[in-house]
Amino acid sequence: MKYWIETYGCQMNKAESDALELELIGSGWKEAGIPENASIVIINTCSVRKTAEDRIWGRIGYFKKIKKDNPEQKLIITGCMAERLGDKLKEKKSPVDEVFGTFDKDKIADFIGKKNIIKSYENGIYKFKKNHSGKDAFKSFIPIMNGCNNFCSYCIVPYVRGREISRDPADIYKELDSLEKYNTKEITLLGQNVNSYTYIENGRLIDFPDLISEISSRVKSIEWIRFLTSHPKDLSHKLIETIASSENICRHIHLPIQSGSDNILSLMNRRYNTKDYLKLVENIKNMIPGVSITTDIITGFPGESEDDFKMTCEMMEKVRFSDAFTYYYNPRVGTEAFNYPNEIEMEVKLDRLSRIIELQKKISLELRKNKLGQTVKVLAEDYSKNSKNELLGRTESDEMIVFAGKHDKIGKFNNVKIISLKGNTFIGELIE
Ligand code: SF4
Repeated sequence: MKYWIETYGCQMNKAESDALELELIGSGWKEAGIPENASIVIINTCSVRKTAEDRIWGRIGYFKKIKKDNPEQKLIITGCMAERLGDKLKEKKSPVDEVFGTFDKDKIADFIGKKNIIKSYENGIYKFKKNHSGKDAFKSFIPIMNGCNNFCSYCIVPYVRGREISRDPADIYKELDSLEKYNTKEITLLGQNVNSYTYIENGRLIDFPDLISEISSRVKSIEWIRFLTSHPKDLSHKLIETIASSENICRHIHLPIQSGSDNILSLMNRRYNTKDYLKLVENIKNMIPGVSITTDIITGFPGESEDDFKMTCEMMEKVRFSDAFTYYYNPRVGTEAFNYPNEIEMEVKLDRLSRIIELQKKISLELRKNKLGQTVKVLAEDYSKNSKNELLGRTESDEMIVFAGKHDKIGKFNNVKIISLKGNTFIGELIE
């Protein structure tokens, strides 16, 4: 029996798909290689942005065509979009056979013929699963939390993933130990807001800095520890000190700002203002020399005036993010902002989006130019898009770099001299 899994959205979804894949392999299933050959297709979906859902609808249409030739193929939709839309995904001659929302994922077990599946939820409580099949395990993702309590007014996550729950540290350490055999080089600790990690053990409170500090001293072969994502209101001084004093926690922080206008931040229910954010950035930069800060920005939130937008541009210039993931606002049914007045016209949203993309390109380029001539440590991840004689890797600051090299360098650290830039990607030369 052969399976095909497609995953959309965040790294958390990818980690959960890996866990599911482990269950399938453990039940004797094999990867189909191409979707046409699969007897079961599972799409693990994302609902955060409309564009993600549109892509998934496109894939459902694609599988409808495949099912004409292979009517026995079962199509299962799971994840956040399944949670949000439920059986609507099965309506109107849909090829979808089953829909399992975030809280019902374990029901997939019936389809894969496994009765003793490790439960994702027990008594309504999320259970974390080991998710490493060994494939590309040089770079592994470890969920440490699930859910979110923040209710940013534009975000569907708290509704489709539920409230925050922090994973037992002993379970996290066990998973870390299991990575030793894969020669893992980099781990990323995952959660919707890792900074609010809280676990009480024998009456002692363990917070995120305690956890990452313990992980940092435990792992021997893992040289890079990353974490995603940080809410600015919860990133503590203690965490900055922990990063500064550790050798294996990457000097890179992803710190979503979303807007540079206090008015819009308040409408977004982000619970920080630009003054707080700038103070935090100042502390981070002072205490962690060479740190790179990346961010997320939304343009065209309801009520965003041209002045609000310009404040976002000013914040970008002040902070000088090394990269930014930029989006235009998309109303999501079920969120508070869905009912907000003063929606911004699509033309304006897109215009503002293209302006911040251009601004970020300029800032990224200026920051990267300062690094020309430096030799940096690079984790080679794959071949480059263009050639099997070129590798694509990432620096500690999470910048992309392409350099000439062979397959044996993939999954390993390499010293690479930065020679030039193509767009915002470094072109480097391997130092043997
Ligand atoms: S912190 Fe806000 S944006 Fe992030 S997952 Fe929670 S509600 Fe969504």
